[in-house]
Amino acid sequence: MTARVLLVDDVEASRCVLEAKLVAEYYQVTTAPDGASALQIAAQDPPDIVLLDLLMPGMDGLQACRLFKADPRLKHIPVVLLTDLDGREARLEGLEAGADEFLSKPFDDVVLFARLRSLARLKVMIDELREREDTSRRLGMTPMPGSRLGASGGRILVIDDDREEAMALAHDLASEHRPVIETDPAKALQSARGPIDLAVINVGSTSFDALRLVAGLRSGDHSRQAPILAVVNPSDRSRLLKALDLGVNDLLPQPFDPLELRVRVRALIRRKRYADYLRDTVAQSMELAVIDPLTGLNNRRYMMGQLDVLFERLAPGIEPVALLMLDIDHFKHVNDTWGHVLGDEVLREVAVRLAASVRAIDLPCRYGGEEFVVVMPGTRLSDAARVAERIREEISGKVFVSGDQEIPVSVSVGVSASDGAEDRPESLLRRADEALYEAKSAGRNRVVIHTPRS
Ligand code: GH3
Ligand code: MG
Ligand code: MG
Repeated sequence: MTARVLLVDDVEASRCVLEAKLVAEYYQVTTAPDGASALQIAAQDPPDIVLLDLLMPGMDGLQACRLFKADPRLKHIPVVLLTDLDGREARLEGLEAGADEFLSKPFDDVVLFARLRSLARLKVMIDELREREDTSRRLGMTPMPGSRLGASGGRILVIDDDREEAMALAHDLASEHRPVIETDPAKALQSARGPIDLAVINVGSTSFDALRLVAGLRSGDHSRQAPILAVVNPSDRSRLLKALDLGVNDLLPQPFDPLELRVRVRALIRRKRYADYLRDTVAQSMELAVIDPLTGLNNRRYMMGQLDVLFERLAPGIEPVALLMLDIDHFKHVNDTWGHVLGDEVLREVAVRLAASVRAIDLPCRYGGEEFVVVMPGTRLSDAARVAERIREEISGKVFVSGDQEIPVSVSVGVSASDGAEDRPESLLRRADEALYEAKSAGRNRVVIHTPRS
């Protein structure tokens, strides 16, 4: 995964070395010699990731970071502070200034690129979220809470065969999260079937094959969504590389710095929540596309799709399909007399009574305006007519009440059923519509069955 990186460093030599490394890994790199010009460049052409050297004359990395995070157009861009190994104080300050990550010089290339990949993925998700928030704002919907997704309170599975080390890790995480310790790989896999936000695995565990466990978590149905932070011995290169290969999301070198642990955990959990959120909203918008917002019934688009599916099965001619088309009588009069708001209430109540009068496999939907359709799989014309009559009675038999208003409501219903393997959804609908028209002409509040003209 590549990304556009803005690299800010006052020392030309170190800028060039890092730029060359990044370019070799196919990152698109822009460079700036100081914080002020970095902000200018970013405002004109926002990058995906900013790498900020901490020590720079004039505006230093901390100050530049604060300005990035204060600018509404830039604050979503991940900022990585480049610090010296012993710069613990500076890291703390950096986090307070809003930095998302820090990298210590001299860079371990493997770790550097693992981190950048992880940040690039995070940025893709942030962009997607922002786009959706924009879209919902444009459509006049309340913006989704994407940018407010938290990174604390995570359910974290700590897996380490050394109980003491696991306790130390869990202890450092417990002030912000809910860590659970597992020292046994089989039990760990078991626990990972529950809802977890992150797995922290010591891949140097000696009493079991921790890499095999990583692979197991990656292929598990539930656990594959959870990020993995691998605690590694930085000198064990082959294990470290293998862990990354197997899909570990980030590395924590031993002996670990509790501050670094907390930062990495927070970033991973935030990313996990973004991903969950995006998945949920995709499911949600797919649902929105097939549901009528006023009544909660399926809409016409969904009904047509289902009808097509049923008609494919109709081909051998075994499974009949019946269809009811309902239209509220004199609904204009309801609106004119009691107003649109009560009119809407009537539509909702009709939907409730309709849905309550049909079987679970029947599909009641709002066809449009004050018209409803019920698709009834495996149903013959005469049975469908009985259901139609029951619905009609259910609606006209009990007056609609809203506050102290009483609104008499009735419906007319047309009934049709599939007619052999050559029949089409459109003609089934047309026949029900013709029957409905007859019901209206004959005086309304009645059911008419479409009789095939032979
Ligand atoms: P008929 O018995 O012949 O069906 O008479 P009708 O008045 O029901 O028929 P018509 O189709 O002429 O009028 C339907 C009315 O339904 C017109 C429209 O304003 C109203 N309507 C359609 N959709 C909605 C809605 O979502 N809410 C409300 N309150 N009214 C709606
Ligand atoms: Mg109508
Ligand atoms: Mg009507």
